[in-house]
Amino acid sequence: MAHRKKRTFRISRILFLFVIAGGIAAAVFYGFRMIRTRNLRKEAVQASPSIEPTPSPSASIAPSYDPALFTDPDSLLLIANKSHRLPEGYEPSDLIDVNTIGGHGTIAPMMRKEAAEAEAEMTAAAFEDGIYLQFSSAYRSEEYQSELYWGYVASDGQEAADTYSSRPGYSDHQTGLAADFVENGSSDFTADFEHTESGKWLYEHAWEYGFVIRYPKGKDEITGYTFEPWHYRYIGKDWAAELHAVSPDETIEEYFGITGGIEYTDPISTPAS
Ligand SMILES: [Zn+2]
Repeated sequence: MAHRKKRTFRISRILFLFVIAGGIAAAVFYGFRMIRTRNLRKEAVQASPSIEPTPSPSASIAPSYDPALFTDPDSLLLIANKSHRLPEGYEPSDLIDVNTIGGHGTIAPMMRKEAAEAEAEMTAAAFEDGIYLQFSSAYRSEEYQSELYWGYVASDGQEAADTYSSRPGYSDHQTGLAADFVENGSSDFTADFEHTESGKWLYEHAWEYGFVIRYPKGKDEITGYTFEPWHYRYIGKDWAAELHAVSPDETIEEYFGITGGIEYTDPISTPAS
């Protein structure tokens, strides 16, 4: 009995020591963790002023983006829509031939350098997926757009032409950052392109290469144009990823808060004589 008591006492002493040791270990662990958390918080506080300057209480709400981002001729976000005319006779300074696996249509396509390189990368990736992306149209000069537009006006009337063709000086193609694609030798630009292999691949993957669908379905009132599943616009990989994260159909106008719309803000243009 006495022997048993002694043993029980020894066991409880060992258990007690275990509990004490465990308590010390936990205290040391949490202590370190608290110090680390405090240091991390301190770092975050020190880092934050350069990222988010504290707004002064009286300041009015500043525009989210520098307007030059959309009007600077060298910007990858240069905007051409019915309320944003490009500078008269604008021609990008860094146009190069697009080196693409796909067909070239009748005109050898040119784009701004960064867009052309991204397009070639995208075409190669599509090709690996068994998709033969065919290129139809990229950069168009203001003069060429004028011929196209007034040709459409002559055949369909101005009201109809304005829903699908830009007036000269307002075309996304004139930025050298836009590209039209066609399915396997077809030259039809119809909404059915959406259901073709190329159309589906582009809708799913183009953003990964810095391109966004410029005229998504149901956004006519915002972009000023009817649905064009074949027309993609290069804005760079970072912005394209940001727009795509909102929705595959997010428009440049919506995301950046840029005016667009179906009515031209400038007086009606007439054909150059
Ligand atoms: Zn187009």
